[in-house]
Amino acid sequence: MSSTSENIYTTFDRILKRQDKERLLNQKGLVVWMTGLSGSGKTTIAVALEQVLAEKGILTQVLDGDNIRSGINNNLGFSEDDRKENIRRISEVSKLFVNCGVVTLNCFVSPTKDIRQQAKDILGEDMVEVFINTPFEECEKRDVKGLYAKARAGEIKNFTGLDAPFEAPENPFLDISTVGRSVDECVKQIYDAVMPLIKY
Ligand code: ADP
Repeated sequence: MSSTSENIYTTFDRILKRQDKERLLNQKGLVVWMTGLSGSGKTTIAVALEQVLAEKGILTQVLDGDNIRSGINNNLGFSEDDRKENIRRISEVSKLFVNCGVVTLNCFVSPTKDIRQQAKDILGEDMVEVFINTPFEECEKRDVKGLYAKARAGEIKNFTGLDAPFEAPENPFLDISTVGRSVDECVKQIYDAVMPLIKY
């Protein structure tokens, strides 16, 4: 043990318990971890889902590249080690929210089984994996952020789905096809499946 960790005095026995907070909020904490290619629809769905859940009185926090990579993880790049550290911190942040009874909606490409396993190892049963299942060709057609054009032009290296792998989850909690379906339909599919887990 490092001298730093020896000098940490835990407060676990004195802080309010998760169950107390869940009772306060009248909901159960959960991490809805969305995985899928860039432009597959993770953020669009999370933002819409958050609205629907808010209408039902459920407190949520969307976690995505915008608020994570620009804040707590702004010192991390895209090397193997940094990607791992990125997911470790996202998972630990999610855990804090879940222990507060909050539902986090995580929008991260999280392209490999290893990466998602790392999150599962930290979050256990508090995490459900939702595959936002949109084929590469469709994401490229949408090209919301112009990233596919740049990657094709060779301006982005290691682009997921092009010259870096995306390993589809084998047994996701939910598999959400977005092609030919409205955002509302996809949101409803997730809502119907997660609501029983969130309900206090
Ligand atoms: P990601 O967060 O996965 O990178 P975005 O949510 O930023 O993806 O972009 C997804 C794009 O796909 C948006 O322009 C959205 O309007 C479009 N789209 C079309 N159909 C759907 C659908 N059924 N669900 C989610 N997004 C959809």
